[in-house]
Amino acid sequence: MPHEVLRQAKQEFLDWDGSGFSMLETPFTGDAFKKVLHQARDDLRELLNIPDNYPRILFMHGGASAQFSLVPLNLLGSARSVDHIDTGYWSSKSLREARRYCKVHVAASSADSQYDHMPENWKLSPESAYCHFTSNETANGVQFHQIPETGGVPLVVDMTSDFLSRPLDVSRYGLIYASAQKNVGPAGVTVVIVRDDLLGKAHPATPTVFNYAAQAEADSMLQTPVTFSVYLAGLVFRWLRQQGGIATMEQNSLRRSSSLYQVIDDSNGFYCCPIQHGHRSHMNICFSTTNDTLAPVFLSEATSEGLMYLKGHPVMGGMRASLYNAMPDTGVMALIEFMRSFAEAHRYDI
Ligand code: PMP
Repeated sequence: MPHEVLRQAKQEFLDWDGSGFSMLETPFTGDAFKKVLHQARDDLRELLNIPDNYPRILFMHGGASAQFSLVPLNLLGSARSVDHIDTGYWSSKSLREARRYCKVHVAASSADSQYDHMPENWKLSPESAYCHFTSNETANGVQFHQIPETGGVPLVVDMTSDFLSRPLDVSRYGLIYASAQKNVGPAGVTVVIVRDDLLGKAHPATPTVFNYAAQAEADSMLQTPVTFSVYLAGLVFRWLRQQGGIATMEQNSLRRSSSLYQVIDDSNGFYCCPIQHGHRSHMNICFSTTNDTLAPVFLSEATSEGLMYLKGHPVMGGMRASLYNAMPDTGVMALIEFMRSFAEAHRYDI
């Protein structure tokens, strides 16, 4: 979370907008919360330049993991199959979940090369309802930097870990979803942006609160929304606008990630990154020490220096530096300095 946002939330915690009450106490049915929700949505629309045929932005429960099921439940319609692009930990999870509802055709996969790149040659099947992919694989550290042309096939994207970090042409997508806890705000709310012609096809067994059309109709208030998370997300959207918007976030993440990759590539084999150049993530920099036994030493010394949460995803091991929008340059500089001196001190241990 950006510090400016946390400070503002602290300042107005007991007394929101001179109302005498906290946003935590505000009933979602009242005008105060509706004002917050609508402002958040307007700011997001402005940030991403969302076209008019995406009239509703949904704030939903259940995280991105719930969307792995809700997308097929809502978009399959009369089709029997969907296309998925298999690029790592999160896309594999999403396609396994979709298999509970329909046939999943894997249109491209990089599994054979340990997910070290994003596949460019997608073999879409004409009978599929949509094609689902993950724009940034948070655990693997691999990111799409270009999306292939898919003709008329609706593209569905899990953008959880790179949403709002780079410009986005919303009109290329049928549906975009992202849970909040990376670049949007605190955990608890999931943003869903859906094109209007894809609404209204939900399977009859879809729980009503998970029906996109019903939530759109009810202004995302079919049940009590996660009010405080929506409020904080709104403060983050406002902060993003004040920073110069998404273009600034892209410049920041390019600058920060390229300086970290530089340290890895210039380390004469002390550090390594398993991802091919041109496919590396600007959000999650995954790396390891060539000598595996040094990884726990790296992590424990980094923690003593105040460099926290650098352990890689449990299934991947190694290290991971996540450079979400709120990460300041000073944090990246401190990590770079630590990595250089660690390599210097342990150079002869490889
Ligand atoms: N997709 C991606 C790309 C993710 O990074 C994550 C969480 N790290 C998820 C889905 C799952 O999100 P949630 O925990 O909100 O369900």
